[in-house]
Amino acid sequence: MVKNSPDNTEKKKSLNFIQQIIEKDLAEGKNEKRVHTRFPPEPNGYLHIGHAKSICLNFGLAEKYNGLCNLRFDDTNPLKEDVEYVDSIKEDIQWLGFDWEDREYYASDYFQQLYEWAIKLIMDGKAYVDDLDQEDFAKNYRGTVNTPGKPSPYRDRSIEENLELFEKMKKGEFPDGSKVLRAKINMASPNMLMRDPALYRIKHASHHRTGDKWCIYPMYDYAHGQSDYIEGITHSICTLEFDIHRPLYDWLLEQIVDTKYRPHQYEFARLNLSYTIMSKRKLLQLVQEKYVSGWDDPRMPTISGLRRRGYTPESIRYFADKVGVAKRDNVIDVALLEHSIREDLNKKAQRLMAVLDPVKLVIDNYPDSETEELEAVNNPEDESMGKRKVPFSKELYIERKDFMEDPPRKFFRLAPDREVRLRYAYIIKCVSVEKDDEGNINTIHCTYDPETKSGTGKAQRKVKGTIHWVSADHAIDAEVRLYDRLFNNEDPNETEEGKDFTSNINPDSLNIVQGKIEPFIKDAEAGDKFQFERTGYFCVDKDSSEKLVINRTVPLRDSWAKKNQ
Ligand code: ATP
Ligand code: MG
Repeated sequence: MVKNSPDNTEKKKSLNFIQQIIEKDLAEGKNEKRVHTRFPPEPNGYLHIGHAKSICLNFGLAEKYNGLCNLRFDDTNPLKEDVEYVDSIKEDIQWLGFDWEDREYYASDYFQQLYEWAIKLIMDGKAYVDDLDQEDFAKNYRGTVNTPGKPSPYRDRSIEENLELFEKMKKGEFPDGSKVLRAKINMASPNMLMRDPALYRIKHASHHRTGDKWCIYPMYDYAHGQSDYIEGITHSICTLEFDIHRPLYDWLLEQIVDTKYRPHQYEFARLNLSYTIMSKRKLLQLVQEKYVSGWDDPRMPTISGLRRRGYTPESIRYFADKVGVAKRDNVIDVALLEHSIREDLNKKAQRLMAVLDPVKLVIDNYPDSETEELEAVNNPEDESMGKRKVPFSKELYIERKDFMEDPPRKFFRLAPDREVRLRYAYIIKCVSVEKDDEGNINTIHCTYDPETKSGTGKAQRKVKGTIHWVSADHAIDAEVRLYDRLFNNEDPNETEEGKDFTSNINPDSLNIVQGKIEPFIKDAEAGDKFQFERTGYFCVDKDSSEKLVINRTVPLRDSWAKKNQ
């Protein structure tokens, strides 16, 4: 073995802790050198950026180590689950660029096997039917972190009685909540989860896959490890809060399986993002209480929301990679996510000129009916994207903020008697302004210098500012939706007493303006992405029909940081 060669140390350093575990397992020949992971969403909501992190990790590990990654729906709670969620989850994973091939599994497919294993546990004296309700058990029997629990009065039921009662539970002879099946472990364990945890509960509810076949449903802890075992998972990766579940995960497998092969659970820190809510329950609340237009509202941290907002799969994978895999909880600055999409679109996005707060500009000395086709670069980062023609005429629109009547010295844009360059066009000079009755400027008059046309190769005088514009007669009208962060607080869960996280919603998270865009955009379709020069990255929204609707993905620079300095 080569020790301390630069390549070797470099490689070791860049492995995250899970990759290190896998490489060690492979080196020791564990699991016949197989690497098999799974992504196990519960179909009770849409996937969010935190799930994207987990997807990239699980599918990424399988890719890196020539292994497999399953998609497994963790559908053990019929009350909250729905096929709408199943479909959206599959769409989102595929969109991110990952493929579970033919390995689309459901915990509900294993209900029969799980039931049979429960019977085995009862027959081995490792599980019993308890008549205490969950609340009574938690309050009066389970004990506390500092005091041991005491046994349920039903703990020592005979195996026969347990079998009979469990059978009756399955047949639907008892109402919801009246009985549970418990593992018989240790009521004095320092780990509260090992104090006779529930394995099955009664729920008379229709399941989106098994219909009314079952009215007892396995708990997460009972279903998860066994499902991993059935699927041959080697590395079962979950978030940190599950580390106290690991002894139970291992205990159950120990009782149930008699092979050498065992799946193992590893925990990593979940992704937390500043200014972002990641709990599915709370995201559902935002949807149900109509704070947002739906799960795919472009302000939502869901994958479908980010997609609609204009994020690319590459940008999200890049983000997941940058965030890394941590062992300790932390909060990632949402600016890193915004940086990721800027990085990607800078290379890919077609440039256009668009005016989002238009004011009319008339070039007094330009011929009335003339239109010129000026040449513009589609993407300065990528020459292969070529050039396009932009129509130029006597009447234009420019951004209101690019003109000041009484500017400070360092204002290098347009002002009375001052010159600027119109991007790809001429140098103009402001000669007068017209105002409406309220004193607002409604037309800026300029003259242009025909000798200063861009791209003619002539030696030209320099001006400090260049501004963008569109030709009034040629521009396409669009509704432009300017999004800002959905929450005002870095930690949206931090609230004043008596208020919930919705009190932190940013009332200005959506600002709709009527923009004017150069005609190139006319044939664009939903999802097409652009950089509007000097402004930001934008994409065409699916709401576009007669009128074009455009979403702002991110501004070019971080306006948030500036505003809050
Ligand atoms: P809830 O929001 O109700 O706590 P959940 O986020 O755990 O649910 P699941 O559908 O159970 O939702 O999650 C599927 C997988 O995604 C799990 O393996 C979970 O660990 C992982 N996951 C969920 N949230 C994050 C996150 N913020 N960061 C990383 N992984 C996550
Ligand atoms: Mg979960």
